[in-house]
Amino acid sequence: MTLATLDTPTMLLFASTCHTMMAGVLLLFWLTRNTGPGFGWWVWNEALVAIGLIALLARQWLPLAPTAIVSNAALIFCVPMIELGLRIFLRRRLQPGMTVSWLLATAVFAVWLGALLNGADTVTRVQIISIGNLLQYGWGLSLFVRCLTPATRVPLGLLILGVAIQMVVYLLRVAPLLQGGNPGYQLMNDVLLAWLILASVFCGIGRTCAKLMLVHGRIESELRHTQAALEKRANVDALTQLASRSHFESALPLLQANAQRRQLPMALLLFDIDHFKQINDELGHQAGDAMLSALGGLTAGFVRQGDLVGRLGGDEFAVLLFDCPLTAAQLIADRLREQVRTLHTDDGRPLSISAGLTTLAADEDFAAAYSRADVALYAAKAAGRNRIQLHASAMTAAPAGA
Ligand code: GH3
Ligand code: MG
Repeated sequence: MTLATLDTPTMLLFASTCHTMMAGVLLLFWLTRNTGPGFGWWVWNEALVAIGLIALLARQWLPLAPTAIVSNAALIFCVPMIELGLRIFLRRRLQPGMTVSWLLATAVFAVWLGALLNGADTVTRVQIISIGNLLQYGWGLSLFVRCLTPATRVPLGLLILGVAIQMVVYLLRVAPLLQGGNPGYQLMNDVLLAWLILASVFCGIGRTCAKLMLVHGRIESELRHTQAALEKRANVDALTQLASRSHFESALPLLQANAQRRQLPMALLLFDIDHFKQINDELGHQAGDAMLSALGGLTAGFVRQGDLVGRLGGDEFAVLLFDCPLTAAQLIADRLREQVRTLHTDDGRPLSISAGLTTLAADEDFAAAYSRADVALYAAKAAGRNRIQLHASAMTAAPAGA
């Protein structure tokens, strides 16, 4: 069996069934999923191909003119719809590209209709349609190529491949005209028509996959963005851009494991702004927020890379000093306390912090170290504020600093 022996109606029946099914799949997808803007035009595009092929099939039972008009109108005007859907979907400019596309489709249809009404023979009409489709697909191809990005490479690659295959068949159909006519044209045209119908099925499948892949890629990337935003919201304190309490706590085990493997000491510094309520009450909540944000920025810039800084809540902050023996931690904490004094409220009062300092063992819970640091912080407040207090458990290792 060769393609020449396959009769055109059978091929058309096969192709129209395939395209109807593809249009159905896209329609179902469109109605039941959040496909985003533009997808509706792609459903129309596939539906018009199906309508065009069914009208071609109906030509054997119905008069030539109406079936030919319906089929050619559908097959000509379905082309700009791929482009329109793609431009909307990828948020590309619609004009002037779409005007060119619609005008081109209208011109191709008008020239073909003129030829039909003037009694032009089949060969001439086929040539007109083939040249017209070549121009239309060529125009579409230039857009597809321009829209290629790493994210759209595979789906647009499929579209480009499909269009390129159809263009080759159209070129072959035009060839006899360029040779000044060919007596064997009818037979050759039947074979080429069979190839064209097969190519249209192949391209339709590629196009449908491409459309679904584009939607899937869009949904996947939106999900990734949402996930990243949610993670950021959970992990980063919005006011100071420091680690949130939950992130601080969940990041600790990894640092502890690292410290244990390399036998490195760690210290936990917990500090709290002195008389912060007063700042809020006298200068307003916004001024208070500005101080929190300034303190967060100062602390983040002060510590070393590898340390972990977090805002645990309210005006309470924590720093995990990685690879830091207690004596060094005391010096760092005191330098930080001094630095904080350079921050001033709007009415010129210097900010001050009180802090509790303790060691953090590699195998202990954050809660245990936190409660020691909190006891020391409480003692620093009780001793008059603006000071660093070492927890009693660490006193034997290093003298307390103030
Ligand atoms: P102390 O020296 O004993 O720490 O006194 P304080 O006034 O700082 O008391 P405390 O630390 O208990 O007060 C914390 C205040 O921080 C209470 C609350 O109104 C304020 N606060 C908590 N979260 C925020 C915030 O996000 N923005 C602002 N502006 N204030 C906050
Ligand atoms: Mg406070």
